[in-house]
Amino acid sequence: MGASTLLLTGNIDTIAQMSCNPAIGGQAKGQIVREIDALGGEMAINTDLTGIQFRLLNESKGLAVRSPRAQCDKKAYQHRLKHTLELQPNLEVFQALVTGLIFDHGRVVGVKTNLDLEFHGQTVIVTTGTFLRGLMHIGQNKNEGGRLGDFTAKTLSGSFLEAGIELQRLKTGTPPRLLGRSLNFTKMQEQRGDATPTLFAFHDTRDPDLLFHVEQTGETRLGWTPGSNQVSCWMTHTTEETARLVRDNLNRSALYGGEIEGVGPRYCPSIEDKFVRFADKPRHLLFLEPEGRSTNEYYVNGLSTSLPFDVQLAMVRSVPGMENAHLLRPAYAVEYDFAPPTQLFASLESKKVENLFFAGQINGTSGYEEAACQGLVAGVNAVQKVRGGEPLIIGRHEGYIGVLIDDLVTKGTSEPYRMLTSRAEHRLLFNHGSAEARLGHHAKRLNLLSHNRLSRIESKIATQEHWQAWLERERHGGKTWGDLIRRGEPDESLPAEFQKLDATIREEVLYRVRYQGYLERERRQIARMADVEAIRIPPDFDFLALRGLRKEGAQKLHALRPLTLGQAGRISGVNPSDVSVLMIHLAANRRAQATPPTGADE
Ligand SMILES: Cc1cc2nc3c(=O)[nH]c(=O)nc-3n(C[C@H](O)[C@H](O)[C@H](O)COP(=O)(O)OP(=O)(O)OC[C@H]3O[C@@H](n4cnc5c(N)ncnc54)[C@H](O)[C@@H]3O)c2cc1C
Repeated sequence: MGASTLLLTGNIDTIAQMSCNPAIGGQAKGQIVREIDALGGEMAINTDLTGIQFRLLNESKGLAVRSPRAQCDKKAYQHRLKHTLELQPNLEVFQALVTGLIFDHGRVVGVKTNLDLEFHGQTVIVTTGTFLRGLMHIGQNKNEGGRLGDFTAKTLSGSFLEAGIELQRLKTGTPPRLLGRSLNFTKMQEQRGDATPTLFAFHDTRDPDLLFHVEQTGETRLGWTPGSNQVSCWMTHTTEETARLVRDNLNRSALYGGEIEGVGPRYCPSIEDKFVRFADKPRHLLFLEPEGRSTNEYYVNGLSTSLPFDVQLAMVRSVPGMENAHLLRPAYAVEYDFAPPTQLFASLESKKVENLFFAGQINGTSGYEEAACQGLVAGVNAVQKVRGGEPLIIGRHEGYIGVLIDDLVTKGTSEPYRMLTSRAEHRLLFNHGSAEARLGHHAKRLNLLSHNRLSRIESKIATQEHWQAWLERERHGGKTWGDLIRRGEPDESLPAEFQKLDATIREEVLYRVRYQGYLERERRQIARMADVEAIRIPPDFDFLALRGLRKEGAQKLHALRPLTLGQAGRISGVNPSDVSVLMIHLAANRRAQATPPTGADE
């Protein structure tokens, strides 16, 4: 956006370091990466150019739920992104640890660092991840740090507390890393990448990018196609012995032994959680995922734990193919401070301190994609704040980014928040191919994309609309092509002109035609909801006295005092039946106010 920006980081070499496994995408997250790309972010292209395995999840299911996922080369991902930052005009990168914020009359005006240097700016965005008072646990062993081998940001939390910003604790964990040559892959099942990889970036509209990969660097693509030389992952499973080791040592786990106060991620459970919460399941799948092309290090997806090292080692060696495994790094859990996100406006600016923005894991989320999209929105909005422009607020009906931020600021979170398809009520509209069409108007208003890319997007959308209308209009054997497609006409028998179109355009048109009825229903519902969103609730409304509300719903409404029906419906603990009761009551009140009482004429 052309704003003069400084990026301060505790360690330049760990910019874009993936703390957990170097995998991007998956359900809902894959769509977020597409949305980031549609808004000019770097995550998609960085994944494509450093990916070592690509898989389209749910390929056998409907187009609506298909999500791309990629395993990246961890070091290449970091190096390419660091290099991208170095080349970015108007961006300065500097290595220093931020130790505190500088305030002036309720506003933030800069930061202090461990080098006794101060930096002043009109806005500040905090993206400290798991580093705020980070404490790592391996059984009873504790070490300070935001990540194994990294520092902890100790004093910064004090600045937030001083400004009246509330902090709470969360925790997350990561599995051990193993040496590949100590594993017996013949006892595991191979999992190859897709023969035709689904990439993340919209390559058809993007300007050509620099390629930086571990093997290649240069101004042009040196004959290498992303996804052309993929590596395999391997599948194995826990055994009865693994289960016994976990159960016998639960009291030694930092999680279950009471060492950790923070709440962990429900959707990425530790192996302790799995054997306790799903006690009837005899075994759990494990995936061995390579961390890169130029390393023999493997990530054991599914074996996150905070058990002591001796138990970890025995557990690993109880798994088929891992009997002689050498552990390169132990598994651990990390506890950290986060700032409950209900303290933020939807622009991600603090309600308490003007010009201070928060993004990423500090807002209670977990995951690279969730962090990246918040960083993008906070960045845009920090510039808009300086320029006095309208903030970027993505609607819940426009994309997963909108759902994520709305959930955070209206509902908050008491456990690490991860995006799931089920969180989005209009997810049918969020197929991964439509991100540019859904978010293009924001990108255009805010100048987030080059002129060339915007015009390519506009022409792509025009072509899609033309073909959608054509298929709904033109007939074949007495029926429109649209009807034939919905009745299961195979793609190969569609008109030759249509088949010649670029695959991305063809796929998007087919999606819109095939699901036309459902998509229209969603749009009608959105139009109806726009009215509901606007129904105002009087500030002194007595929720506790309203008959028909469930007790929990009434208490939550009473505590959070929403001002519109839309906000009320999104408060956690308030369910659709509460909203209906409220809507009927408010509508009846409005009618009563609009209709003169009987006998008024007399
Ligand atoms: C052990 C572990 C396991 C995880 N497991 C999963 C998982 O299973 N699934 C999942 O989806 N996600 C997982 N995550 C989460 C994922 O890594 C994060 O959600 C994501 O990286 C957060 O991005 P972020 O930009 O907010 O912060 P981070 O990626 O943590 O980056 C924070 C950056 O801020 C810098 N920094 C911090 N404090 C200061 C300071 N005071 N001054 C200067 N620089 C500072 C750090 O150097 C770092 O570069 C895990 C994270 C960890 C640590």
